[in-house]
Amino acid sequence: MSTLAPLPFETPATAQDHQVMREQLGREMRGVVSIARRCGCGRPAVVRTAPRLEDGTPFPTSLYLTLPWLTLELSRLEATGLMAELTERVQQEEGLAAAYRAAHERYLARRAELGDAEEVRHVSAGGMPTRVKCLHALAGQALAEGPGVNPIADEVLPLIDGVLPELLCRCEDAAPAPEAADSDDAEEPR
Ligand SMILES: [Zn+2]
Repeated sequence: MSTLAPLPFETPATAQDHQVMREQLGREMRGVVSIARRCGCGRPAVVRTAPRLEDGTPFPTSLYLTLPWLTLELSRLEATGLMAELTERVQQEEGLAAAYRAAHERYLARRAELGDAEEVRHVSAGGMPTRVKCLHALAGQALAEGPGVNPIADEVLPLIDGVLPELLCRCEDAAPAPEAADSDDAEEPR
């Protein structure tokens, strides 16, 4: 197996990160290996997870987007029907298809660094390699790996303010749901 360059933005996950992820998701983030990308404010944006969770469940989405404002923006884009259009292009444009397949292979190789889950050995995320089914998963890969890896995410992310070239903080845009705001000591100092 060839060795990949390290993920460019990967940092350890702290206890504080686990608390922030709990607020972001409204539940415990499981299988956390590291933080693959952070928001401009330092909060986790993409979490790297183990191919298999503690209870043995295979978990193919190993670069998992947790950042609420970006999750919301991508959901808005998904609701526009953009994915059907992108899937059609992946199936028609040879160059795009090849680059998208390479992103799929990269996803599998990156996840294999953390171990094997044979049930999902050939399953990446987001619909790769032939369909566009989840922009969140594709964005997770692109933000963790940097530009030039996932061609679909590289097209979609510039449509959202503040994502490229740096992930500027827009956390104040996406206020946490009231039920998730159960801890008043978890806010980062500003
Ligand atoms: Zn932020």
